[in-house]
Amino acid sequence: MTSKLHDPETGPAWVPKPPSGVQAEGTMTYGRERIFVKRVKGYFQRMRWLTFAFFLTVFTLLPLLTWGDRRAILFDIPARKFYLFNIIVWPQEFYLVTALLLMGAMGIFFLTTLVGRLWCGYLCPQTVVTNLFMTVERWVEGDRLQQQKLSAAPWSAAKTGKFVLKNALWAVMAAAFGFTFVSYFVPQSELISALMHPSLSATMIAFLMVSGFTLFDGGYFREQMCLVPCPYGRFQGVMIDDNSLMVAYDAQRGEPRGFKGTTTADCVDCTLCVQVCPTGIDIRNGLQYECIGCAACVDVCNSVMTKLDRPTGLIRYTSLSALKGLPFQAVRGRTVLYGGITLLATGFVAYSLYTRPDVALDVIRGRQALAYTLPDGRISNMYTIKLLNKDDEGHSYTLSLQGIPGTIEPPPAPVFVSSGEVASRTVSVIVPPGLSVGSHPFTFTVVTADEPHARPVITPSTLFVPLAQTR
Ligand code: SF4
Ligand code: SF4
Repeated sequence: MTSKLHDPETGPAWVPKPPSGVQAEGTMTYGRERIFVKRVKGYFQRMRWLTFAFFLTVFTLLPLLTWGDRRAILFDIPARKFYLFNIIVWPQEFYLVTALLLMGAMGIFFLTTLVGRLWCGYLCPQTVVTNLFMTVERWVEGDRLQQQKLSAAPWSAAKTGKFVLKNALWAVMAAAFGFTFVSYFVPQSELISALMHPSLSATMIAFLMVSGFTLFDGGYFREQMCLVPCPYGRFQGVMIDDNSLMVAYDAQRGEPRGFKGTTTADCVDCTLCVQVCPTGIDIRNGLQYECIGCAACVDVCNSVMTKLDRPTGLIRYTSLSALKGLPFQAVRGRTVLYGGITLLATGFVAYSLYTRPDVALDVIRGRQALAYTLPDGRISNMYTIKLLNKDDEGHSYTLSLQGIPGTIEPPPAPVFVSSGEVASRTVSVIVPPGLSVGSHPFTFTVVTADEPHARPVITPSTLFVPLAQTR
């Protein structure tokens, strides 16, 4: 990717470069040193806090919603059942979960080709948590300069007090996040009970792990999550092209940079865009994969330009094509590919949900003998019928036979099955003498007796007519 944004001294865009304030080589990522992030205000930061509030509201409220007498959203891992409002996804329907995940992933890929890393900057839980933690940190320790001074100062009672207070507040926030997250998988009453009576239960371990990770991530790991383990950040080069929206520095306007009065270019080299960057990079070095598109540098640079009475947008949301003066192209290979897969996956999920019956019929042939010949010459085959009620209320079901001149014994009466329960019956299919020897295909059909408009479920089976008579 070459452009006017590309700085020949710092190499091509998307090649990892050590963030400023970070050592070039080292352990976890680049032998990371703490990044002190200056507070910034501006239009995009207000937009971000609105999206953060939206995320937190949805994330907190979803586990509290009820649907009838159960939770509206619950991922019951031990029972391998997912509750999504009126839908219950059963283990045999996990293809739906796979399709949903594919739909979500491709949807994000599609959006990324259009609008770059808006997800990272505005809605990713990692971003939301890190920003909340940084806000508390500023409240306790002050802004960037005070934090730097405190960090460099020797340990004292005041420094220890701030350290303890900051970590205690973070721990409370991490516990709240952990509680909410785990309550997507465990009924809240069970979670509260596990917390009130501490023991090493699976619920308690999950709560401690999520809360501990949140504390570590939001307080200490921070931007490294985006730079190292997060695969999304690593795939940016595949998803983004010249037409994707991204935060970029307009080098034509800004270079040669220099203090006010020393250059006619717009960048006064105040370095504020570096000081506010949560990943510690200098956007003036060109596009870098560490940029999460948070627009903090846009807001701060706009405020500098406004004070200098110069046009804003020296750093702005743009695309490489726009910077070259080329028109925006929405339809291109990547958008068609990712958009097409997203549409297909969405259509598949919608069709599957629409045509999905609320009852599953499982037919297992009798294991002891393939067939019996009754004293009157009729042939009998045995089957175990299993009915699973996938609906969220109980129903009566009736079984019938098609495709063969036979009867079911005992004659099938409507069977009531409670929501989520399985009813199992052993039945015989009896056909009159005269059928040819061998297998005869037929179908079992189950209809919901108390819901005449519900779709019938049809399951194929076979009936065997023996050569030798088995009594
Ligand atoms: S904030 Fe703007 S003016 Fe200041 S260094 Fe960054 S690009 Fe240059
Ligand atoms: S370069 Fe700008 S947009 Fe990118 S992460 Fe840093 S502050 Fe945010």
